[in-house]
Amino acid sequence: MTCPRCDSTLERYALDGETALACRACGYLGVTVEHRSERRERESWEAALARFRRGG
Ligand SMILES: [Zn+2]
Repeated sequence: MTCPRCDSTLERYALDGETALACRACGYLGVTVEHRSERRERESWEAALARFRRGG
């Protein structure tokens, strides 16, 4: 699977029961939602993004 922005290879991350596809090259972050729970999901994604942008 490749990045829709820059065509680099996406990496998979398992985050709190969900799977994210992230591109280190351009910072793209895609989400495959497996279970929805509105508010909690949004909070966990902000935390995930913060962690990702810190370079984790
Ligand atoms: Zn990319």
